[in-house]
Formats: sequence, structure tokens, C-alpha cells
Amino acid sequence: MDGLSGSPAFKVEVMFEGIRYSGALAEAARHSLPNFYPYRFRPGEHDPTGTGKAEIPYLMTTGDGTLIRVMGNGDSAWFVQGSRAEGYSLCRDGTADVIPIDFEPRHEWLAGKSSDNFPLAQAGVSTHGDMMIINVAPGCEYFLKKPDGQSMRCTFCAYGAPDQRTAHLGQVAGKVEIPELTLSHMRDAMAAVMAATEIRHIYLVGGSLTDPSREGERFLQLARAVRDSNPASIPVTLGSGALPAQLLKQFHDERLVEAVCFNLEIWSERLFSQVCPGKNRYVGYQGWIQSLETAVSLWGAGRVYSAMVAGIELEPEYDIDWQAAADLALQGADDLCSRGIIPIYSLYWPAGGKERSDYQLRLRSFFERLACGYSEIRRAKNLAIWDGFMCHRCAYMQLECDLDRVSAL
Ligand code: SF4
Repeated sequence: MDGLSGSPAFKVEVMFEGIRYSGALAEAARHSLPNFYPYRFRPGEHDPTGTGKAEIPYLMTTGDGTLIRVMGNGDSAWFVQGSRAEGYSLCRDGTADVIPIDFEPRHEWLAGKSSDNFPLAQAGVSTHGDMMIINVAPGCEYFLKKPDGQSMRCTFCAYGAPDQRTAHLGQVAGKVEIPELTLSHMRDAMAAVMAATEIRHIYLVGGSLTDPSREGERFLQLARAVRDSNPASIPVTLGSGALPAQLLKQFHDERLVEAVCFNLEIWSERLFSQVCPGKNRYVGYQGWIQSLETAVSLWGAGRVYSAMVAGIELEPEYDIDWQAAADLALQGADDLCSRGIIPIYSLYWPAGGKERSDYQLRLRSFFERLACGYSEIRRAKNLAIWDGFMCHRCAYMQLECDLDRVSAL
């Protein structure tokens, strides 16, 4: 593949260039799923809020269902026009293109309550596109560990330790079991989501425990509870850390999940130990890959995934230029695919964001080269993304499903 074209090329363009503020974007923010990052007006930019920042939507969709994360950028040539009543469009300075878009709605279930009056928005259930994410124990124990003064958290991670921020979910450091009340709120939230919108994938995630066996026990409890609240048998993916073989066998024997995704995050032992010191210490690089291989032996090729954080290796401390980084990542993609493990590359968003324009340029070159090269690798090995796991309607920072879709058209 020489380069991106069509819908994947458009997605990359909008992801990297962002969208500048407009009245239509402000209107959309009032009924859309809110962005984690507020829009920050650049110096001199007209700021109708007078506060320097504004809420903007989180996700936009195009007519063919492509899902794209919205990044605010006052320097962007892209802007939104239209209204909720007449529909929104994305336009670009200097072109006559008017691209119809919509935004992921602020679903009504988010304002709902459980049977015991608990806010469903805090029940550990969320959606993007047609994927439901279950995350009832987000606190990660790696944040609590500092052997030799080095934090064990993954360097890019925005999660946190189990602490007062996870108290509403009943998650307490050192306790493996998920409280029954938390699962009851989760069940109510799942039912509300499924009644409000079409869900085609369920993804179980959570913070890590330093003992993978204990982490596996927690996910077993969660997966059993989810199975009992999934009357339509929507495909479920286990998104824990890499687990020991006997636990994987248990998930498989009980038919609790249809796919797994254990995030290696980065290829090469050197980068893994630097980017993911906790995973490296408590599971190990080879141990992680071995667990993924065990999963392939149980679920088969095409059902085993590993999310990778694409572009973190361009941070200066890793001392690698973007061409060498892309080559290394592609070498890893080829190796993993040869084992039946399918990596999924999620675009890394560097701290400092658009202020680091040199980084953005290198990141975009890296991401495009990786996406094209990786698409060829998967095509040669006949490894498409299974649409029970993920599709172009829910992958908002990844390109694999978009590339699969356009090549199948
Ligand atoms: S294991 Fe997961 S939750 Fe924990 S620090 Fe790494 S990425 Fe974050």
C-alpha cells in the first residue's frame, strides 16, 4: 500500500489537524458526549465564553459510520457548521467540501439511576460507538509500587491507583473481589445501555494487580456477572493483563469470552521495560507474549489481540527516530501476526499535544507508515479484525477496521 486514501486518510487528517471552535461546535457540545479535554482557545482567538476554554464533543461520525475522536485546535482549517435541527457538516478552509457528520450523543441513560438510586454514569459502564466498555475496578496497583524509587505504572497511563477516586465503585487497594453492590449497579447500567442503543461488542477492562493470578480471579468474577446480564449474547472480549495459562483455560472452558486482548503496548524488550515497567516486572515481556500464545491455542488465530500505544516511542527518552521506530513496530507486527496475535495500534497523544508541532509531524509520518505497512502484513497473513471484537463504528483512535472495511468494499 503506497499511502492512505479514502475514509482512513480523512480520519487521520482530522485526528491530527483537529477542529477549530465555531458556534455549531458549541451547539453540538450541548447534546453530545463531552470530550475529556476541553477546547482551549489560543491567544487572540475569538472566545465567546470569556473563560479561555469550552466543552466540545468527544467523538464524531461520518456518513459511512467512521468514528473519529475530536481534538480542538484553534489553528486548524477544519470547522463545523450547521445545527442539530439541520444536521452538521465538516468544512475546510479553501475547499468547497461539505462533509456531513454527526456526534456521539450524550445518551439519556447517563442521567439515569439504578434500582437503588445510584447514578448510572458512575457504574463503571461507558460506550463509544457500538462498543460497551465495562470497567468497574479501574484503579491499578502498579501506581502504588515504587521498587528502587521507580514507579511501576506505564508511562503513558492516565488511570490511577485504587483510592478515593474509585471508592464509589467499592474498589479498595489489596482487595480482589468486586463488591456485589458494584456488580448490581453495573447490571442496571448494562440493561439501560442495551435498551438505549445498539451494542455489538462488550469489552472488559480494569486496572492491573501485581499478582496476575489474583487479577485473573477478579476478571473471572466480572466475566461471569457480565455473561448473566448479556441476554443477546453480544461478543465479549477479555481486556485484562496477560494471565496464567490455567486461568485462561477456565475462561475458555466456561465460554465466558469470545476474544482476548492483552495489551503488550510496545514491541521490543527494551522499550517494553522502559514504557511498561510494572508489566515487565510482574509478568515479563516473554511471559506476556507466552500468555497471548496460550490464548491463541485456546481461542484460535483471529480472536487474540494486543493493543499497542503507537508513537510513544518517539518521546525523546527512548532515543529512536520515527523511521527506525516504524520499522521496529512493523517487525513486531509481523512477528506477532506470525504467532496468530493481532496487534491493534492506538494513536498515542503526547503531553503538550499540538504545541509540539515537530512531534506531531513525526508522529503522523510514523502512524501512516505503520498503518500502511501493517495492513499489508495482515493481508498477506489473511488476518482481518474479527468484527465481534471491534469495528469501524467503535475504533476511534485506530485504523485497522477502517482499512479492512475499505479493502473489502
Ligand atoms: S497496567 Fe494498564 S492501568 Fe496499569 S499503568 Fe499500565 S496501562 Fe495503566
